[in-house]
Formats: sequence, structure tokens, C-alpha cells
Amino acid sequence: MARMPIISGNWKMHHNHLEAIQLVQKLSYELKKEDIEAVEVTVHPPFTDLRSVQTVLDSDGIPIALGAQHCHFEEKGAFTGEVAPSMLAKLMVTYVITGHSERREIFGETDEDVNKKVKAILKHEMTPILCCGETLEEREAGDAETKVAGQVLAGLKGLSADQVQTCVVAYEPIWAIGTGVTATPQDAQEMCKHVRETLRGKYGDTVADAVRIQYGGSVKPGNAPDLMAQPDIDGALVGGASLDAVDFARIIQYRLAI
Ligand code: PEP
Repeated sequence: MARMPIISGNWKMHHNHLEAIQLVQKLSYELKKEDIEAVEVTVHPPFTDLRSVQTVLDSDGIPIALGAQHCHFEEKGAFTGEVAPSMLAKLMVTYVITGHSERREIFGETDEDVNKKVKAILKHEMTPILCCGETLEEREAGDAETKVAGQVLAGLKGLSADQVQTCVVAYEPIWAIGTGVTATPQDAQEMCKHVRETLRGKYGDTVADAVRIQYGGSVKPGNAPDLMAQPDIDGALVGGASLDAVDFARIIQYRLAI
């Protein structure tokens, strides 16, 4: 079954709303109709930029999906500084990254938190991009597969097969994020295949063959074609390179180099 590739730009804590508008407009000038028809593109600006970026996407008719980087799992309440999924949905956000290693490592998010967030995101008819990935120590100790399968199954716990089928999983080896070191296409493929086989074991062929799996970790225009050519890699979650409209566009246009 052909899966529509999905390439997502995680802007992390970069760009105020004016810079964000410029970036998304510049990106739209770089992309051709054929690019957007071949690849689903999502951008994930900081919360303060969402309204501005949404307005530009809408008023200029730019077919890029709006995404968020994180949310809380509760509907409302005394959670100073947090943002509820319903608030994102109201801003036409359609994708929400959850379980990013920076959220797990710096802000202490657990698999249980991530699972609650996945459920809350789905409840508001948005799509979770569920991140998983091992540290270098875990990889060297031979624990990468166990860690990643555990994060995926814990993040999706309690969902129906129909719900799981709609989710996106991002395999992001922590040692490759923002380091300039990329997993080789073969290593990335092996782990993305492992994610798919984990899904197959738990939810069956239909779900495993439908879920889109992204690779993330220092994806650049130069390595995107080889990564995207792998059979179990359906997309990329891009940090640093998505802050540059030209670089991000070249990644989205990876197929021109294959
Ligand atoms: C990320 O932000 O998830 C990421 C993979 O960052 P980078 O592309 O900079 O490694």
C-alpha cells in the first residue's frame, strides 16, 4: 500500500511571529504544486506564532498543514503555562508532535504522559506525531530496539486499531538530533522497520502497513534522498534544517534527486 510521504518542520523555540510569517511565505515560494501533491508538509512553530502562521496559510491558500510541538492532555484547568488540545484544534492545527526527546529529557515527560497526550490529540481530531528513539548509550548496549518498541507501545496504549492507523510515528535517535550526525540510511531503515513490525505484532497488517513512520535526526538536503528511498521511511521530522526555507524546500523535493 502506498503511503503518502509526510515531512514536518519542527521549529523548536525559534522565531517570533513576524519571523515565522516570513519563513512560511518564503517556503511557499520555494515549493511547486507538484511538491505539495507528492508530499504532505507540516510546520510546527512555537505556540505564539500559530495564529499568525495559520492566517498566512489560510489567506494565501498555502497547502501546508499547521502543527504544534506539544500540548497538555487536560481540557482546561490550573496548569500554568500549558496549552490544551482544544485550543490548538480551534487554530486549525492538525498535527501535534508528542513525546519529543527534548520534552522527555528536559521536561520529564513520561510514557504515561505521552499516552494521555496522544489520546487527547486524537479526541480533538488532530493527528499525533509520536516520537521515539534511543540514546547513544542504549544503542551501544544493544537496547535500542527494546527502548523504541516500548515507547511506541506505551504511547499508543488503549487506542483502537483504527485510531493507531491514523497516527504518525517519528523514529528519532537522540544521538542524531541537532548533532549533525545522521543515522545511516540502513540503520534508520532497520529501526523504522522495527517500529513497523512492532505495530504489526500488536495491531496486524492493515495498521502496520498504513502507519507513516518518519525518521528524524540531522536530516539535510544532502541526506534526505537516501533516507527517503528506504522502504519503511515515509517521511522526515526536521529540526535545524527546517529553519531555512531553501534547505527545507530541498528536503521536501528529495524525489528530484532520487
Ligand atoms: C528534531 O527537532 O526533532 C530534529 C530531528 O532536529 P534536527 O533535524 O536538528 O536534528
